[in-house]
Amino acid sequence: MKYQVIVIGGGLGGLCSALHLSLKGIKVLLIEKNAYPKHKVCGE
Ligand SMILES: Cc1cc2nc3c(=O)[nH]c(=O)nc-3n(C[C@H](O)[C@H](O)[C@H](O)COP(=O)(O)OP(=O)(O)OC[C@H]3O[C@@H](n4cnc5c(N)ncnc54)[C@H](O)[C@@H]3O)c2cc1C
Repeated sequence: MKYQVIVIGGGLGGLCSALHLSLKGIKVLLIEKNAYPKHKVCGE
């Protein structure tokens, strides 16, 4: 599988970026070092 964009980090910024890119039809690979669900410093 080929990706057009690779996002490193699935925090708020990475998740929002990957979501909006994929909604535009862009093939995105999101790489997160931790497993979900994971602790979040605000709002959990
Ligand atoms: C104590 C504290 C309280 C806060 N309270 C609030 C609040 O009340 N309201 C608010 O709006 N904001 C708050 N913030 C700010 C908010 O958490 C950040 O603005 C927001 O999380 C930034 O998003 P981000 O995606 O840039 O980074 P992050 O959310 O930090 O995401 C980065 C991601 O990258 C991953 N990562 C890191 N290195 C690698 C790697 N090498 N490979 C793969 N993945 C990797 C991490 O695991 C993480 O999931 C708070 C921050 C802190 C520290």
